[in-house]
Amino acid sequence: MIIVMRPHAADEEILAVEASIASLELTAHVSRGAERTIVGVIGAPDDKEALRAQFVQLDGVEQVILISRAYKLVSREAKPEPTIVRVREGVTFGGETLALAAGPCSIESREQVLLTAQAVAAAGANLLRGGAFKPRTSPYAFQGLGQSGLEFMREAADRNGLAIVTEVVDPRDVELVAAHADMMQIGARNMQNFTLLREVGYARKPVLLKRGISATIDEWLMAAEYVYAAGTHDIVLCERGIRSYDTHTRNLLDLAAVAVLRTLTHLPVIVDPSHATGVRSLVLPMSLAAVAAGADGLIIEVHPTPATAKSDGAQSLTLPAFAELTARLAPVAHAVGRRLPAPAVVV
Ligand code: PEP
Ligand code: MN
Repeated sequence: MIIVMRPHAADEEILAVEASIASLELTAHVSRGAERTIVGVIGAPDDKEALRAQFVQLDGVEQVILISRAYKLVSREAKPEPTIVRVREGVTFGGETLALAAGPCSIESREQVLLTAQAVAAAGANLLRGGAFKPRTSPYAFQGLGQSGLEFMREAADRNGLAIVTEVVDPRDVELVAAHADMMQIGARNMQNFTLLREVGYARKPVLLKRGISATIDEWLMAAEYVYAAGTHDIVLCERGIRSYDTHTRNLLDLAAVAVLRTLTHLPVIVDPSHATGVRSLVLPMSLAAVAAGADGLIIEVHPTPATAKSDGAQSLTLPAFAELTARLAPVAHAVGRRLPAPAVVV
């Protein structure tokens, strides 16, 4: 059961709700978002209707909702209308306008990211992607430029009117990454790093939560629940392929998950066709398919010279190939009632 407080409910009203829950020997879980507070009631007894009638009368309570799913706050039952995550003016996930993030797998140098940012902005992207902290399978592989990577990225994004989405891999870096980025990414390998999920949730910056390499949809939504419960309600889910047995693609793109999630959660969902396929030539067809299937956006790896990329060159598009992709995407978006982002504005 969750108790949804009115927007900007007073602290005393929230405390009174908590006290009322405690007096019934139940546990309250309070999630204070930027606009509204939601109180989860844990351990509710069998006669939930009677309890609902009792809570709904309390001051500041807007509604009390019974939820059958293990994930509460991110479920459609909790919020039937879709959430639109607003990263900043002109950068939204979940509305009619798609979000389009593009950039290198890793930030490698100032020049590399400046060149890429300029090209992807010109081709219609509205977010710059790129890792400054890289979660690599091998401890000997390039681990990212760290803070200087974030700084190069910020400069490149600002010069081209783009917002930044970048990964954070360590709870100790959340503050640093939040200071430079507009949106923080939790990578597939960290989807169930619960300490990191909570820490990112406390930061109250929009979060891009990638699906774990072999996570079920329910496990993925439980991970989103951690972030939501910690206080960040602006969460976007990202399908990036799951591990399978075929070797022609790096992962298996689960496009059905996009449609399934629509029924289970109010959160927006995007697709990463780059990590999902691992093959440059498959990025365009899977991007078109993802938008046709109802994805709220795409995140795509683009590199000025993929052959020299420090990571994921084989799946990175060249700069002209990304421009071709956005041109091909526009009519598909239109056919399903969506549109590409407006050209980036330098502020
Ligand atoms: C990435 O987007 O840079 C990345 C590492 O992706 P994933 O976590 O999906 O493997
Ligand atoms: Mn990558």
